[in-house]
Amino acid sequence: MTVQTLDFPIEKTSNSRLNEVDFNNIAFGKIYSDHMFTADYTDGEWKNCKIEPFKNIELSPAISALHYGQAIFEGMKAYRSQSEEKVLLFRPDKNFERFNLSAERICMPTIPEEIFINGLKELVNVDRNWVPNQPSCALYIRPYMFATDAFIGLKPSETYKFIIFTSPVGSYYAEPVRVKIENHYSRACVGGTGAAKFAGNYAASMYPAKLAQEQGYHQLIWTDAYEHKYIEEAGTMNLMFVLGDTLLTAPASDTILHGVTRRSIIELAKEKGMKVEERPILVQEVIEGLQQGTLKEAFGAGTAATVAHIAQINHKGTDYLLPAVENREFSNWVLQQLSNLQRGIQEDNRGWIHKL
Ligand SMILES: *Cc1c(COP(=O)(O)O)cnc(C)c1O
Repeated sequence: MTVQTLDFPIEKTSNSRLNEVDFNNIAFGKIYSDHMFTADYTDGEWKNCKIEPFKNIELSPAISALHYGQAIFEGMKAYRSQSEEKVLLFRPDKNFERFNLSAERICMPTIPEEIFINGLKELVNVDRNWVPNQPSCALYIRPYMFATDAFIGLKPSETYKFIIFTSPVGSYYAEPVRVKIENHYSRACVGGTGAAKFAGNYAASMYPAKLAQEQGYHQLIWTDAYEHKYIEEAGTMNLMFVLGDTLLTAPASDTILHGVTRRSIIELAKEKGMKVEERPILVQEVIEGLQQGTLKEAFGAGTAATVAHIAQINHKGTDYLLPAVENREFSNWVLQQLSNLQRGIQEDNRGWIHKL
């Protein structure tokens, strides 16, 4: 990927908070690095690109993002290389492409690659000492965009703000997850916004997820909105199953987010010579697989957790236990492969890793 260069001002903090952070004890998403990248969209173009100290921003109470929800985001990670000198980004071009697809769906302006990619790389570089070197820790990167018109008529905003900030993070899940197949509520429908990383999708998922959490589950498995007959995804992860000797995952579609982790796992599985099927998955066949013992593995795939092993699946009141995590050949292998690539333990020959 060749990206045009971009010159923009960098104002560094004189008051770094780095020494206040206990890197051996970081929760997910609670501490923010010293700097942020910002850009403004006005008069039909992106302006005012800059890096400045992370700080509160001042906005009109009337901004349309707060009323009508024009807001999208991305999530990705920077990892510290084995040698500790380099910081590695994993497939940032895919997040960039998806960001602009989300923007188009929510009627927001797209962002040029040189702003997204250079802003991101420069920001991570400025805060490179914030990238943890502890195993299973990384620097989470959050690019996002929201509507800033102070206007309460319903129409696409004419002005927007783009921000990237970063946050050192530890493991997303402390243990293999218990999930429940949802049979009433829906996350996405055909023709809807499920394929966009659009803020409203996540707001709408909170209530049903809360009900499941009250029953002791970490996450829901979403099913299709019409019949609740097909498996879609879980929380902010794509779902993958090993059924017999086949890696099975639902096709990325209108209702299923096109995950970077998902697509990377599919590529690695195919290279390994594993049988991979991307096709609609019936709830019924997963339940039968659980009953008959042919469903060997189930996991969520996403940037936050990379691979989140599923320990237990609930369907219509029955809990099914999955085989012990240590016996899961494929998901343990692929997690190790991804982690080795992301940390530069294994040389990348696919163009996935961008070194800083
Ligand atoms: C972000 C996200 C994923 C995972 O995508 P990655 O690119 O692998 O992080 C899956 N599903 C939903 C709904 C998401 O928001």
